[in-house]
Amino acid sequence: MQYVLALPDGEQIPYRLERRARHTIGMKITVDGLIVHAPLRIRHADLEALLRSKARWITSKLKARQAAVVPEFEWRDGAELHLLGQPLTLRIAPSSRNSSPKLEGNALKIATTNIHDHTMIARKVIQWLQKEARLDFARRLPIFAARLGEPTPALLLSNAKTRWGSCNSRREVRLNWRLIQAPPALINYVIAHELAHLREMNHSARFWAVVAKLYPDYPAAEQALKACSQQLYRLG
Ligand SMILES: [Zn+2]
Repeated sequence: MQYVLALPDGEQIPYRLERRARHTIGMKITVDGLIVHAPLRIRHADLEALLRSKARWITSKLKARQAAVVPEFEWRDGAELHLLGQPLTLRIAPSSRNSSPKLEGNALKIATTNIHDHTMIARKVIQWLQKEARLDFARRLPIFAARLGEPTPALLLSNAKTRWGSCNSRREVRLNWRLIQAPPALINYVIAHELAHLREMNHSARFWAVVAKLYPDYPAAEQALKACSQQLYRLG
């Protein structure tokens, strides 16, 4: 089961809880994040209190793991971005004025008065990706909604740090703009997943049966998404 540990400082740490016939609580940090092994009988509130007391250890280990696996993105000329799973080379050119990024073949070109202003370059490129994301997701959503036999829900972009999408009872689907970097199949999976929540607001067997109708090979997509998550979260 997947849970989120809320810390007093507002930080949220997702973790996977695996209950076992054991007497002690074990924690490990993997590529998927924090995994907790706990005795069958411990109350959830007691478990979370204990995890909170270890918060310093957990957050430092998570940070170290992240830094070790994926280096921070560098906003320099020639850096490699991704759009719909395809590599996109960032081209930064000096110019007398700033302009928005433009897609040319498999290059994303940006002209700027200061090629060293990485903050500005990052902001412009991320805005561009967000615009692409909105256009792309808005095309896919009605297709999957129709397959489900539901009216197309409202689409909102999210900037969440730990989740790809969400769906609420007001029929709003939020999709993380960073998904635009992923192959189309993975975007389709997240859309299928969130739309299935219109029918089942949980992760029960009934929910997964709805997902399977929209996206039969969802276990592979779920795995692939996990495998590239850190890469996709490098931006923004
Ligand atoms: Zn879900």
